[in-house]
Amino acid sequence: MERINHWIGGKLVPGNSGRTGPVFDPATGEQTHEVDLASSEEVATAAEAALDAFPGWRATSLSRRAEIFFRIRELLEQRKPELARIVTSQHGKVLADASGEVQRGLENVEFACGIANLLQGGFSEQVATGVDVYSIRQPLGVVAGITPFNFPAMVPMWMFANAIACGNTFILKPSEKDPSASLFLAEVLADAGIPDGVFNVIQGDKVAVDAILEHPTIRAVSFVGSTPIARYVYEHGTAAGKRVQALGGAKNHMIVLPDADLDMAADAAVSAGYGSAGERCMAVSVVTAVGDIGDELVAKISERIPNVHVGAGTDPDAEMGPLITREHRDKVASYLDSGRDQGATIVRDGREDPVAGGDGFFLGLSLLDHVTTVMDCYRDEIFGPVLAVVRVDTYDEAVRIVNENPYGNGVALFTRDGGVARRFQFDVEAGMVGVNVPIPVPVAYYSFGGWKSSLFGDTHMYGPEGVRFYTRGKIVTSRWPDPATSKVDLGFPRTR
Ligand code: NAD
Repeated sequence: MERINHWIGGKLVPGNSGRTGPVFDPATGEQTHEVDLASSEEVATAAEAALDAFPGWRATSLSRRAEIFFRIRELLEQRKPELARIVTSQHGKVLADASGEVQRGLENVEFACGIANLLQGGFSEQVATGVDVYSIRQPLGVVAGITPFNFPAMVPMWMFANAIACGNTFILKPSEKDPSASLFLAEVLADAGIPDGVFNVIQGDKVAVDAILEHPTIRAVSFVGSTPIARYVYEHGTAAGKRVQALGGAKNHMIVLPDADLDMAADAAVSAGYGSAGERCMAVSVVTAVGDIGDELVAKISERIPNVHVGAGTDPDAEMGPLITREHRDKVASYLDSGRDQGATIVRDGREDPVAGGDGFFLGLSLLDHVTTVMDCYRDEIFGPVLAVVRVDTYDEAVRIVNENPYGNGVALFTRDGGVARRFQFDVEAGMVGVNVPIPVPVAYYSFGGWKSSLFGDTHMYGPEGVRFYTRGKIVTSRWPDPATSKVDLGFPRTR
């Protein structure tokens, strides 16, 4: 069985911990690879390589860094289909979706090409007689990124593009479920001219994560994954003195008002609920139908479901692929029974889809109606192709439900009323808001992040906040005085 190794100091390094994990093709259910699972000593080796590379990389001019990032962009653009195929083979998502993931990740590389502008500081002349002040931002040193299975190419790009462009050296700990994309990225970065040790990959599980959180050389940790682990990473990382941004899970609501175009809303609910088999942190998982539109909206969503072709990600006709593991598929499916037992109606049962009977980790599109906020299928992040419809009487009730939900990642409103939409963006407690846009993932020159239990830490990811996260400010106060004015003065420095 082919082994998936680490990438340390610019080359593949086979693991020596004696521990490996299985990697599957979710469409067939077959194990295709074994991935090395690092020991804390192997994490230390990567940290050492990154530390050795830091002084040289930090001193590399901004023009040279930008040049390398332009080259990364070109190589990734050319090799996008290869990377998409790798993503599909281990994650399961359909090729078009995998290609979209790579494209959205690439936007972060494009953003990083502007690093010379992004790191521009401020300058104030003559703050006191003969005194000028300027601000600069400098890299932190060795930083690490820990990423989830659901975007094995894009989420690493959210992190390393800004981190490295800002002058840091980087250790990526990808998900052990679909680790090959990380090595593809490592090769592309090396081909583009990123020096050895600037970008490293440590394959692993909790052991590697804990070693990253404890290692004194690593100054900052970016994490994306589920809420319990995000909280753990934030608490342990900050306790060890690191800067941490930890993005967690989600329960994203799509509120449909009675004046909305219901066909458009149903198309959006199906696209955003079932795209990538619901394994997106910005997937819509709850449709909140306001007023008397419930029956019509549920009918419109339901009638679209049989038209969605479920199949292997490599099948050009497939629109939705399998789930990541058999265990996850079974857990997702269990919410159909628990929903029914707790009073919901199963409108569409994905277990009845013929693909669900094979060896692959498939579950068909599922729809639950009459869901209430006390049911497990509402309270838990299901992370699969199960859409729940909650019916409410008023806009205020719909917003209250969102605001009372412990998660606050994305939310969307479907309406034709601009005034209500404006009120919504003012009222709603979530980090990313869509108005007639079901998956409002910010473009790379804004920043990505939720509120409440969807994010631990102060800084959102990528974009301007990413640059802030990976740098620290320094203020220089300088004076080039006339020696004739020099004297001893024990008072606090005055500006006037
Ligand atoms: P996960 O939390 O299981 O794993 C994320 C990372 O943490 C992986 O690298 C994994 O190896 C590591 N990890 C797992 N268990 C650990 C433990 N006990 N101790 C230390 N490290 C551990 O998440 P996942 O299943 O890979 O990804 C899906 C989750 O990620 C969903 O909850 C989804 O909402 C979330 N997600 C959030 C965002 C966001 O931007 N907010 C984006 C993508 C995914």
